[in-house]
Amino acid sequence: MEQILELRDFCVTYINKDKRIYAVKNAGLKINKGDSLGIVGESGSGKSTLAMALLRLLPEKNTEITGSANFIGKELTKLKESDLKDIRWKELAVVFQKSMNSLSPVHRIGTQIEDIYKVHNPDAAKGEIFDRITYLLKLVNLSERVYTMYPHELSGGMLQRVSIALSLIHNPKLLILDEATTALDVVTQGQILDEIVKMEKNMDVTRIMITHDISVVSASCNKIAVMYAGEFMELGYAKDVLKCPKHPYTEGLLKSFPSLKGDKSKLAGIGGYLPDLSKEATGCIFEPRCRQAKDKCKQERPEFRETEKGRIVRCHLYGGEM
Ligand code: ATP
Ligand code: SF4
Ligand code: MG
Repeated sequence: MEQILELRDFCVTYINKDKRIYAVKNAGLKINKGDSLGIVGESGSGKSTLAMALLRLLPEKNTEITGSANFIGKELTKLKESDLKDIRWKELAVVFQKSMNSLSPVHRIGTQIEDIYKVHNPDAAKGEIFDRITYLLKLVNLSERVYTMYPHELSGGMLQRVSIALSLIHNPKLLILDEATTALDVVTQGQILDEIVKMEKNMDVTRIMITHDISVVSASCNKIAVMYAGEFMELGYAKDVLKCPKHPYTEGLLKSFPSLKGDKSKLAGIGGYLPDLSKEATGCIFEPRCRQAKDKCKQERPEFRETEKGRIVRCHLYGGEM
């Protein structure tokens, strides 16, 4: 199976004056062609930092990135700005929650997309560009009419569809969606997720879906990585992890998210707060909030263990004696 992205010991640290914030620690994962990986975790767990670091969008001045991020044979951490320009949009594309805000209010949607298309295809004929754009708009359920409209004439859902269509314009190998459907109402979110899944079948895209909403992963991803305080806690096939979570944090997270139709009064939640990310924990980072913690958890940091094929868990419960 063709590998698209491999992270090894990938770390991102923000350096603010004399303080270091360990936002992503020792991340490791592999994504193959056709995978759709959901990265979930509560607010502040480092999901966006991971995405921004992969895209090299964090300011070098106060960010330290170490480890390896191999993207289709290229080491992302070492690429020069000129190489990054070639990769962004063309091979690696991203949609953020507020991507729609980057559209200019005074230009028609079609003109703006044409300009982006021409960045990598300066000699493209008008007809070719129009065909490509209307094809993409159709994939996200928008009519050709949108081509001549201005951003203010579109609803939030339509604008986010435009952002998704735009991200696919150069047929990227990897698409990263960071909370791309979060601001939308539940019905529109559901429709867009269906469109994304359908679209992938047509376009051979591999996807990372960053969200704090497990129902988004359940609706649109084949794999899941659960992140807490900058660390991956559990990785595996989404249907297995969501049905039978192994890590205590995954379990807590699942109990915090009832199904959309579920009884919201029965939220169990996870007590406590994320730890201070400027302090390095000696033991398990989740220990202060874990109901199953033992003495060992305070003293020793658990390693990743493959508990079954395709399932990786970072917890002492799955690594010998407690
Ligand atoms: P959310 O679900 O709210 O989007 P997230 O999982 O995407 O959260 P990040 O935005 O990656 O989390 O933040 C991870 C940690 O890094 C947080 O503790 C945050 O305060 C910190 N952080 C983010 N940006 C910076 C920065 N520029 N300087 C210092 N710390 C930062
Ligand atoms: Fe809980 Fe210990 Fe597992 Fe950490 S290592 S999640 S504290 S049981
Ligand atoms: Mg974020």
